Order: sequence, then C-alpha cells, then structure tokens
Amino acid sequence: MTMCGIVGYTGQRPAVEVVVEGLGRLEYRGYDSAGIALVGADGLAVEKRAGKLANLRSALVSRPVPPVGATTGIGHTRWATHGAPTDRNAHPHTDCDGRIAVIHNGIIENFAALRTELEGAGHRIVSETDTEVVAHLLEEFAAGGLMEAMRRVCLRLEGAFTLLAVSADEPDVVVGARRNSPLVVGRGDGENFLGSDVAAFIAYTREAVELGQDQVVELRPSKITVVDFQGLPAVTRDYHVGWDASAAEKDGYDHFMLKEIAEQPRAVADTLLGRIGQDGRLALDEMRLSDQELRDINKIILVACGTSYHAGLIAKYAIEHWAQLPCEVEVASEFRYRDPILTRDTLVIVISQSGETMDTLMAVRHARGQRSRVLAVCNVNGSTISRES
Ligand code: GLU
Repeated sequence: MTMCGIVGYTGQRPAVEVVVEGLGRLEYRGYDSAGIALVGADGLAVEKRAGKLANLRSALVSRPVPPVGATTGIGHTRWATHGAPTDRNAHPHTDCDGRIAVIHNGIIENFAALRTELEGAGHRIVSETDTEVVAHLLEEFAAGGLMEAMRRVCLRLEGAFTLLAVSADEPDVVVGARRNSPLVVGRGDGENFLGSDVAAFIAYTREAVELGQDQVVELRPSKITVVDFQGLPAVTRDYHVGWDASAAEKDGYDHFMLKEIAEQPRAVADTLLGRIGQDGRLALDEMRLSDQELRDINKIILVACGTSYHAGLIAKYAIEHWAQLPCEVEVASEFRYRDPILTRDTLVIVISQSGETMDTLMAVRHARGQRSRVLAVCNVNGSTISRES
C-alpha cells in the first residue's frame, strides 16, 4: 500500500487514454495532484494539476498536450511528502531542457545534498519536491541511454522509491526502477504496462511480472528488459492475475475494509516515512506549536466519529503511555453539546479521514472558541478540518 498511483504505457494505443484510465483505477487511493507526460516523435510534453484527477482531465480537454498521437506515456497521482500540493510540485518533473520526465512514489532521503550538488553544477530546480533531483541526475547521465542513466541514478539515491521516466530521445521507451516501494509490469501483445499495482492495467492485460527489490526495467512495445542496480540480468516472477478489475483495486481482498485492515502496518510505516529525520527523531513540520506550548499542555482530548473514534481509543493507550498525560476520547457529535472542560492548556486532537466530517469540524470550532490548541490528523491536505485546525 502506497498512497500514490503510478502508471506507464508503451504500445499502439493513444497513451493519454491508457494512462488517464489507469490513474482513474487508482483513484480510490485519494491524492493531492495528478499529472501525465507523453512522448512521441515530436518530443515530450507534460500536463499536471493540483487536486483531483478531474482537474487533470479537464485541463487535457481544454488544452490537449502535444505530441499528437503519442503511444508512450507515464502518469502519477501524488501524496505529497515534500512540498505543498500545488501544480508546480505535481509530478511529472522534468530536467532543465524538458526532454526527460520523471514520476516518483516514495521519498528520496538524501535529496537535499543532491539538490545542492546539482545546483552547484548549474541545474535549475523549480519545485520543492524531493523528486525533481532525479530528473536532473538523469540529465547528467543521459548519454548512455535512459535505462543506463536510471541504473546509475538509483545508485546515488537513498530512501524508498518507485520511479518511472520517459525521454524525448527514446520515444517508445518507459524506464522504471524500484526500491522498497512496489512496481508491477503488465505484459501485453505489442504493448506493455507499468503500475504501482495491477489495478492500473487490469483492463488491458492479466499477465503480470513482479519486479524484485533494486531492479530497473526498460519497457518497449514488444520487449521487457530487467536488470539489477549493478546492471546484471535480473530474476523476475511472472504471474497471472485471476481477479477482476474491482477485486484488483482491492488487492485481491473481498472488501476494501479487509484490505485496509491488512495494510495497517504498512500504512503506519508509510505515514512515518517522511517524518523521521536522519537522527531518527520525529519531524512534524506542519505542527506550529512551540516547545513551550507543548510543555504547557496538561490534558489531551481525542475527538472523532466512527472508525476514527475507535482509532482514538487505541491512541489513548499510546499517548498516556508515552506522553504521561491524561487523555480522553470523545465522540464528536456529543462533544460540543456537553460543555467539555477546555482550557488553553488542553490539546484537542481530531481525527477525520476526509477532513470534512461535519460533527468533527464543529468540535474543532468549539475547541478553538474555547482557545484550546487543536491538532488534526486527516488524510486530505487542504480539507476544511486541516485548514481550520
Ligand atoms: N515524495 C514525493 C513528493 O512529495 C512523492 C510522493 C508520492 O509518493 O506521491 O512529491
């Protein structure tokens, strides 16, 4: 389970359709922006938009990206870890000349050092993401071809990543790489696919190839080549996907709920991934409480509805254990009607998947009205609850 979606295609069909359709299949994941890069005989073009896939779709309708008739492309939905969820930080990211485009899922832990090095060498980096350095590194190594460049770039990266890239110099090639993050190949007839999971291409083929850890794949319409990071031929596993498209979205589980239960350890690890510094300490950049304000807190109230409320019941154990502060858990719909004791030294933590749960939002307003500090845990950047907290 990773939160963002990745799709790659090369074959005979219009790539824009295959890629956008694939992104749509991954839409249940929820995300901050969507983008696509197409490559053809007349070059490379990128379109990307903050917000839902619908925003990218309408941008593509009002201003279709050249190259016309491209049959190779990559697409991405982003779950931002570095840099706000804006158009500019949306993937794909390009090199200085706009001839190489990259999408990424995961975190490049050593991006800051690479960025300094690349800027020193004259590269212009325009986004705040950890991802963009990859496009410029590929540019540095471009002479040996895209696959070889990707292999050499991967040797310089630390962290977790699934990467896909296309280049104007190789218009029928998509190159992918992975470390600690999933990437699956879909094998077609005269066409091939890449996806962060099989849902991305299940509408076209059920023949899949699972890439191993630390491998690079070069996809051409009739050829799939896989090497490891040392450049040696790599061992992959072919398999047939027995499930239908809707089961594929559920990773083979009967229900989303079962899938989500099974993927909890991974979800927690992914959530922490961007927030643990080199020194192993937790870094919560979004939290605007000073150390003194944190020290002054003498009570924590967790407020939420439904499953979020139940998550709060578990959080209470952890918070009381580690923070040694009294912690209460409240159902949001009751909270504001029962005159809870709130002071400036109370921290109210609200939990909402969508960030729009009305009772929880009302609890935020009530707590703020009493001048309590409010922290929101939610899955949608820019939602009402995250903005008002
Ligand atoms: N770390 C990258 C970013 O913040 C990729 C995030 C993702 O996996 O979508 O842009």
